[in-house]
Amino acid sequence: MDENQLPEAFESQMQSLLGSAEYALFKEGLALPSQTSIRLNQRKAIALPFPKQPIPWAKDGYFLEERPSFTMDPTFHAGAYYVQEASSMFISHILESQKIPKGIYLDLAAAPGGKSTLLSSYLGEDGLLVANEVIASRTQILKENIIKWGLGNTVVTHNDPEHFSPLEGFFDLVLVDAPCSGEGMFRKDPLARAEWSADHVALCSARQKRIVDKAGELVKGGGYLLYSTCTFNEKENEEILRFLTEEFAFEPVQIPLDPSWGIVETQVISEKEVFFGYRFFPHKVAGEGFFITVLRRPEGEHSQGVSVTKEFKHHSLRRVGEKESAVLEQEVGGNGTGKFYLLQDTFFRMKGEYFRELEKLTQVLSIRYFGVELGKKQGKEWIPSPEWALSLLPKNGFPKHELTLEEALDFLRKKEQSFSNQPLGWVLLSYQKLPLGWIKNLAHRVNNYYPKEWRIRN
Ligand code: SAM
Repeated sequence: MDENQLPEAFESQMQSLLGSAEYALFKEGLALPSQTSIRLNQRKAIALPFPKQPIPWAKDGYFLEERPSFTMDPTFHAGAYYVQEASSMFISHILESQKIPKGIYLDLAAAPGGKSTLLSSYLGEDGLLVANEVIASRTQILKENIIKWGLGNTVVTHNDPEHFSPLEGFFDLVLVDAPCSGEGMFRKDPLARAEWSADHVALCSARQKRIVDKAGELVKGGGYLLYSTCTFNEKENEEILRFLTEEFAFEPVQIPLDPSWGIVETQVISEKEVFFGYRFFPHKVAGEGFFITVLRRPEGEHSQGVSVTKEFKHHSLRRVGEKESAVLEQEVGGNGTGKFYLLQDTFFRMKGEYFRELEKLTQVLSIRYFGVELGKKQGKEWIPSPEWALSLLPKNGFPKHELTLEEALDFLRKKEQSFSNQPLGWVLLSYQKLPLGWIKNLAHRVNNYYPKEWRIRN
C-alpha cells in the first residue's frame, strides 16, 4: 500500500463514525500539515526565541509559527520547555478547570514523558508523581526528560501495570495514556497508516481493557482516573469508557469547553448515568487526533495510606540518618525538609513530605530514579551529578560560568573546550542562566561531565 493512502477499513470505520459529509472534511484535515507546539517549564522560565501563540486549553502551551531546530537550542536541553502535541495538553485544562486536588499521581504509561512533565508541573511542590514505563528502552528517555524538567517531585518506575496490585487505592489521580493503534498520528507519521489494521485495533482494545482494569483499582476514593488515546475508533475509546463504567463504580466528570476550540464531547450512557469523552479531530482542532475521558471514584471507596515505620529496609537503598541529613540539607540549600538516601555511594534527595510514600513504592516497584540525584562525596567535597545541575535545587558553593550559544552547543556535544580565568575544580555551566551541567577544570585540561548518552550527536 502507498504509505499516504488510507486503509480501506479505516475509511469505512471513520465514515460510519462521522457520516460521509463530515468524513470528507476529516480527510482534508488529515492532509493539512501538523502544527508544532511546546509547553514551557514555568520553573525554568526563559523568553522563548520563537514567535508563538497561546494554546487556549493549555496553561504554558504555545503553538509555534514554524518548527525550529530544537536540538540546536541549549535551553531545550536545559528543560526550559517540552515539545508536545497541542491536543494532549488538554490535560492541563482538565486539572485546572476541575481544580483536581494535588497529592500522589500515577502516569501508568509515561514514556517519553510529555504528560508526566505536565503533571509534574501541575503538582509542583505539593505532590509526588510516579511516572511508569513498562518498556526498558523507553524508560531511559522518560528518565532523561524527567531529570531535565528538574522539579524533583517524580519517581520513575519500570513496571508492568500488574505489578501495581499492592498499591490499590493509593493514588489521587491515575493517568492511562494507553498504547493504541495511533490513527491520530496518520498525519504526522505516514508509516502509522501502513501499519494500521482492524486486527491491530482489536488487539489494542483488548490490551487497553487489561490495563484500565488494573488502573481503576489503583485510584483512591475521591480520586480521578484519566484515560486517553491518540486514536479515533470507538473500540479503543468509548468502548473502554463503557468497560470502566461496568467494572467500577466511577462517577462521570464533565469538562467545560469553549466552542471555539473545536473539541467534540461524546457520551456513553450507562445504566444510571451519562459519561463523557472528549474527541479531537484534525479538521476541527489545531492539534492531532486525541481522545480523553475523566472519571471520579466515589468518596469512601477503598483508600490506602502509608504507615509510619521507623525502620526502612531495602536491598540497595539506605535512608541517611537525621543528623547527617541536616548537614546535607544545608549543603545543598534545600528548604529544610529534604530526606536523603544512599544508593551504594550516591546521594539522592527526596522532598520530605513524601518520603513515606517513596519508601512504600520502593517495596513494590522497580525504581529507576527519584527526587534529585546529587552525587557522591569525598570527605567534605561533593562530586556532583549532572542531575543536580539540571534540578531546581541551589548549587551553592560551586563557581558558575555563563556560556555563549556556540560554547553551550560545544559543551552539549562533549567537544574539547578550554575556558580561561575559571577556578580549578567543579564549575557549573549555564546558558541564559539555565544550568546545563558540570565541567571539572584541571590545570591542563577541562573534563566534561555531560552524560554521553544525552550529547548532541552531529
Ligand atoms: N504518555 C506518554 C507521553 O505523553 O509522552 C506517551 C505514552 S504512549 C501513548 C503509550 C506507552 O505505553 C508507551 O510508552 C508504551 O511503551 C507503553 N505500553 C506498551 N504496552 C503497555 C502495556 N501493556 N501496559 C502499559 N504500558 C504499555
